[in-house]
Amino acid sequence: MQASPSGQSQYALKDQLTSEKIRIVCRNTPMILLGNLLGSIPLAIVLWSFDQPSILIWLASLYLILFVRLLYNRVPQLDRFSPEEFRRYDQGQAFLILTTGCIWGAGGYIYFDVDNIQTVLMILLTFVSMIAGSLVSLSSRPYLYVLFAAPLMGPMILAMFIQDQWAYNWLAFGAVIYLGATFGFSRTIHRVIDNSIRLRYENLDLIEDLRMETERANEANKEKSRFLASASHDLRQPLQAVNLFTEVLNTKLTEPDQKADIANIQTGLTSLNELLDALFDVSKLDAASIQPRPESFAIDDILIRLERQFMIEAHMRGLTFNIAQSGATVFSDPLLIERVITNLLVNAFRYTPEGSVKVHFTQSEKSIILHISDTGIGIPEDSLDEIFKEFYQVSNQERDKRQGLGLGLAIVRRILALLGHPIQVSSTVGRGSTFSIELPLGRTHDHAVASPTEEIAVKSLRGMTVLVVDNEDAIVNAMCTLLNSWGAEPVGYAATGVALAAVENRIFEPQFAVIDYRMPGDYNGAEFADKLRELIPNLPVLIVTGDTSEDVVQSLHDQSLDVLHKPIKPARLRMYIERIISRQS
Ligand code: ADP
Repeated sequence: MQASPSGQSQYALKDQLTSEKIRIVCRNTPMILLGNLLGSIPLAIVLWSFDQPSILIWLASLYLILFVRLLYNRVPQLDRFSPEEFRRYDQGQAFLILTTGCIWGAGGYIYFDVDNIQTVLMILLTFVSMIAGSLVSLSSRPYLYVLFAAPLMGPMILAMFIQDQWAYNWLAFGAVIYLGATFGFSRTIHRVIDNSIRLRYENLDLIEDLRMETERANEANKEKSRFLASASHDLRQPLQAVNLFTEVLNTKLTEPDQKADIANIQTGLTSLNELLDALFDVSKLDAASIQPRPESFAIDDILIRLERQFMIEAHMRGLTFNIAQSGATVFSDPLLIERVITNLLVNAFRYTPEGSVKVHFTQSEKSIILHISDTGIGIPEDSLDEIFKEFYQVSNQERDKRQGLGLGLAIVRRILALLGHPIQVSSTVGRGSTFSIELPLGRTHDHAVASPTEEIAVKSLRGMTVLVVDNEDAIVNAMCTLLNSWGAEPVGYAATGVALAAVENRIFEPQFAVIDYRMPGDYNGAEFADKLRELIPNLPVLIVTGDTSEDVVQSLHDQSLDVLHKPIKPARLRMYIERIISRQS
């Protein structure tokens, strides 16, 4: 038969209680022994005239047993004892205590002399004190108290009973009542000790239960997040195909009303893509599958990039946009911090119909606080905590996806929690909001500080020759226009053969290549990249693909090619290109 878990814990608790009570006796033992020693000295002095040799024998046997008990008392080892060892130890201790009681009792009987009132009084006084002392110190194990007190008092009570003076008989009777009463006290004291130990263990058990429950809940939460992460990842694959087919359908349709329907579908798809991306990010952060990689870096590098990215929107919306330079080196994960600042800037622009958006700093000895301020609609005081919750939006009751998904700040909160950076918000409705993030300062010499000119040389696309290859003319044109607007000098081809010929014949020497993976003709994008690298070793290449199948992703990974999946957002494309260039240089 199996014991139920609660039955097992009952036994465990009982063992723990017994062990703890034995420990209490052990802790009290030095004081008990000292009490025995001190109690015996005045008694021995008073009895000295009685019979010196026998007194010496009595004292020697008492001190011997006290010494043995001192040796037997091993408090430090008790922690390693098993319940069985505790039981055996307890029995040994009981035997020694009983022996001590007997030695005292023998003295009380042998030296009880009714003709010498001094001796009688001294014995009575000493024994009552011994009993009082041991009542307190032994009551965590009441049977030990009985084993000590009964043999201590018993012989003396007997000695009083056998006297033919009625006063002694009554005294014996009184002593029996007294002894019985102390047994009662001992039980009461034991109950109090027992309750307090029990309470302590129950509290410890409760804390342990709570800890295990919290652990279980955290694990379940992580499991849910892992499920969500893989579900949103798997959902993105068919969605990618839907994106592509919608694009294909779009090129085939000519009727304006059909084009309008496709445009509506594409808007819906964009929202769905964004929602899945955001859900994927939230669940990955919750499942702790994102590992931050903190390093020292110049925060201005990120801000310069973001300034360029948001400048056009600021211009189009007629907003003043200003980013201060801090010159600070911070210690954090640059990619995650860029994500946080981007989300906060997206919000600042989204919720600011007029006025300005700015980024500024306050610096202390160990950290720098980055403030993202806007003069927008502001946030009501009672929503300031709520806005960091998933899907909370102050005023989007109709849940129009064009007004955001309500996940931007949830991602910000999670990333900052992961990085351990505090965030604060202050806002006045109608006047604007400020989000402030505190970043620890890094060590300047840990990262190579690029001078402004080097920075531009490394990261800017200005003047860079870029080869664009895609089988669709429209995409080649769009990509070239975009790269041009960033200052690059792109040349586009719709076929790999022509592009290769141009490079072979040195008509065009690219410094970077953006290549579609699925190309008609002899080579796919990866093979074409190989051919290009035979002509220009180490040419940085970015493969653009709508194909997310495992083997394609794996083979691109094996060839150490950087990949960007369609649909491509311009800001993301730029970030990728800049990152590949800085890495290469
Ligand atoms: P959303 O996609 O709706 O912007 P967020 O999680 O980024 O989702 O923000 C949650 C809500 O917080 C927003 O819907 C908006 O009501 C409020 N909010 C966030 N940033 C600002 C801001 N700079 N100014 C005013 N309101 C803001």
